[in-house]
Parts: sequence; C-alpha cells; structure tokens
Amino acid sequence: MFEWSEEDLMVRDALRAFIDKEVRPHVDELETGALPPYDITRKMLQSFGIDQVNRENLEAELAAEENGEKAEKSPAGGSSTLSSSMFLILNVEMAGVSLGLIGSMGVSMGLTVSTIKSRGTLAQKKRWLPELVTMEKVGAWAITEPDSGSDALGGMKTTVRRDGSGGYILKGQKTFITNGPHADTIVVFAKLDEGDGTPIRDRKVLTFVLDTGMEGLTQGKAFKKMGMMSSPTGELFFDDVHLTADRLLGETEETPGGGGASAKAGFTAERIGIAALSLGIINEAQRLSIDYARSRTLWGQEIGKFQLIQLKLAEMEVARINVQNMLFTAIEASRAGKPPTLAQASAMKLYSSRAATEVAMEAVQLFGGNGYMAEYRVEQLARDAKSLMIYAGSNEIQVTHVAKGLLRGE
Ligand SMILES: Cc1cc2nc3c(=O)[nH]c(=O)nc-3n(C[C@H](O)[C@H](O)[C@H](O)COP(=O)(O)OP(=O)(O)OC[C@H]3O[C@@H](n4cnc5c(N)ncnc54)[C@H](O)[C@@H]3O)c2cc1C
Repeated sequence: MFEWSEEDLMVRDALRAFIDKEVRPHVDELETGALPPYDITRKMLQSFGIDQVNRENLEAELAAEENGEKAEKSPAGGSSTLSSSMFLILNVEMAGVSLGLIGSMGVSMGLTVSTIKSRGTLAQKKRWLPELVTMEKVGAWAITEPDSGSDALGGMKTTVRRDGSGGYILKGQKTFITNGPHADTIVVFAKLDEGDGTPIRDRKVLTFVLDTGMEGLTQGKAFKKMGMMSSPTGELFFDDVHLTADRLLGETEETPGGGGASAKAGFTAERIGIAALSLGIINEAQRLSIDYARSRTLWGQEIGKFQLIQLKLAEMEVARINVQNMLFTAIEASRAGKPPTLAQASAMKLYSSRAATEVAMEAVQLFGGNGYMAEYRVEQLARDAKSLMIYAGSNEIQVTHVAKGLLRGE
C-alpha cells in the first residue's frame, strides 16, 4: 500500500511552513488580482531548489538528446508528474490556500513545458525551455476559443496560412487562457488553411510557439472570475502574426497523430493533477470545519456535538479518504509501470472535482453566516473548487471519456 514516505512528509511540512509565511499573508492581494502570482512562485521554486534541479535535469536531457541517448525526464514535464511526489505534494498543499497560484504554475511548467518537450526540435527546446522550467519566463497554452471550448479541435477557427517563403500568417482568437495576460511564451494551436477548400473541421492542427511582444499579438486583460482569482486568465488575439518556420513545433506539418495529438498527450497527467488539487481543497475545508465545529458554541455546547454537523464532517472524511486513495493508487500503479489510462484518469477527475466542490460547499454551510464571509476562507474554497469541474475538460466530457473506455472494454 502506498503512503507518503518520511522524506515526502518532511517536504510537506517544509512546504506548509513556506505557504504559512509567504503565501497566506498575501492571499487577499492575490485574490483581488493586485498581486500576480509569479514572484511568489519563483521564490518558492528557489527556496526549495526546484529551479536549480529543473535546470540541471533539462540540461542533462538536452545533452542526452544531442548525443542520441534517452534521459530521465525532469519533474517539470507532465509525463513524470506521478513519479514526482514533490510535485503532487506541492499541488495538494497549495490548492487549499491559493488554487490560482498553483494552477498558473501548472499551466506554465506543466502543459506549456511538456508540449514543447514532446513536440519540439532540439533547437526549439534549447530556445524556450530553460527559462520556462525555472519560471523565469511565464508560459501559456492556448487551445480554447469563444466558439469551440469542449469541441476544441473540431470547432477551432484560429487559422494559419503559408506565407510563401516557408513561414506562416496566424489569425484568430483564443479565450480563457491561464497566464494569457502575462505570458512570455505561448503555445498556440491553429488550423492550417491550405486554400484547397477542405472544410475547416477537417483541417490539420499545427502547434506554434509565440513570444510576447510579437507584432499582431495582443494579450487581453485578466477576466474577473468566480474563483481562482490569483490565476490571471484572459484572451489572446492574433491579427496576422507572422511566424517563421522555426516557431512551428517539430518544424514539420507532418506530426504523428496530427497536432491534436500533442494537445491530447497531457490529458492523463492533467486529470490526475486535478485529483491532487481536489484533495488539497478537501483537506483545507475539513481542517477549517473541524476547528470551527470545536470552537463555535450554541445552546451551551459546541456545534460539533450536533449530529447534522457530525454528518458533514463524516462525509468530508469519506471524500478525503476516497480522493486520497485514488491518488495513491495512481501513484503506486504508475511506479509499477502501469499508469492510469485516460478513462481512469477521467474518472478520477470527475469524482474528485465533484467531491471537492461538495465538501467546500458543505464547509460554507457548517460555518453559517461566517461561511459566507470572505474572512473565513471557506467561501474561497467553494468558488475555487467549482473551477475544477470545468477546466481540464468539463466534467460532462470526462463522463464521455470514462464511458468510452468502459465500452471499449478497458
Ligand atoms: C479557470 C479556467 C482556466 C482555463 N485555462 C485554460 C487554458 O490555460 N488554456 C485553454 O486552452 N483553455 C483554458 N480554459 C478553458 C477550458 O478548457 C474550457 O472552459 C472548457 O474546456 C469548457 O469549454 P467551454 O468553456 O467553451 O464550455 P462549452 O464547451 O461551451 O460547454 C458548455 C456546456 O456544455 C457541456 N458539453 C459540451 N460538450 C458536451 C457533450 N459532448 N456532451 C455533454 N455535455 C457537453 C459542457 O460540459 C458545459 O457544461 C480555462 C477555463 C477556466 C474556467
């Protein structure tokens, strides 16, 4: 049976101390958007030496690739998420305090890095990854559009056409892009218009890397959101952005499985990541609820003595055990060389995000009027948790992936 190791628990305690000192005092500024999360994220990476480790791992990987060898993957890569306890523990610990901060870091160091790593040429990896794996530069990963969303690949309208001299012209728009307002390096998915009348749904999807400040690229302001307010989310506009061929990931239009495969590759790791974030929210909601149930006194007794309050605490515990077990099973299976399938990861995401949202809402209820006040923090957990049911593939889409896996006999 998997359990966090002694070393994992030491890391967890050190992270908790960092979060108490460096994150909790700034939550209000982070939540209004007045303080972007990046400097705190960088400080955390530096304090734990993660930036240095990532840089060294990346250098080793790139050197090995240059010599035609295979190297160990670094913790920044999405594919190694499950072998890195530190990365998961960080997700769990940070989620209950600032889901936005850890979400923004995950998009930059997870999705953006892993897409460039898995699809880029060696020259492209050398060009963009060193500053992304340390968060010196902020990354964004842009697929969603106003008219596509869940139908991300089929409904995509953002288009590139060849410029006649080996490059491309990009036109279109993306929305809901995490880190969009501040990103230095942006992975963008676009449909290739070959001018041959192929219906837009059937056109090839290509993946490009853009840098902030390019002519024709506009990064919109951060949206005002329901939750995850410490994660800046915005629109991107591409008004005939000229892209040289060295910005096309892989520098070929012929990618195995098409550009869409690069979008799908990270789904499993991302969905398991959602289970870790959900566990963090459940842990924090339960911790705050237990404290409150012990300290709030009515009719001469603590509310924790009322059976309906006890039911809430007990159901939070059931959710905590279930989500933690799912996560531990996935880690154990992965380390034994049998990582979860997409359908299993989708089931984890579906269950854990729903459980986190229910637990956080019940925590608001347990706190009564105080629960509805921002000062007591449980309302933030409820608003944050809801986002987990929508992004990384909405829960309705997870249902379809779970069911398809079952029907295929997986
Ligand atoms: C906080 C946040 C951060 C995000 N960050 C990023 C990012 O960094 N990069 C990025 O590219 N995108 C990002 N997104 C976008 C996110 O991936 C989409 O919001 C999500 O995929 C859903 O798409 P949509 O919002 O267009 O909803 P829609 O696709 O319009 O869905 C509307 C409703 O229809 C349901 N639905 C859709 N299809 C089906 C179906 N086949 N069967 C049943 N029900 C269905 C949905 O579940 C939903 O309930 C982010 C979103 C949020 C909220």
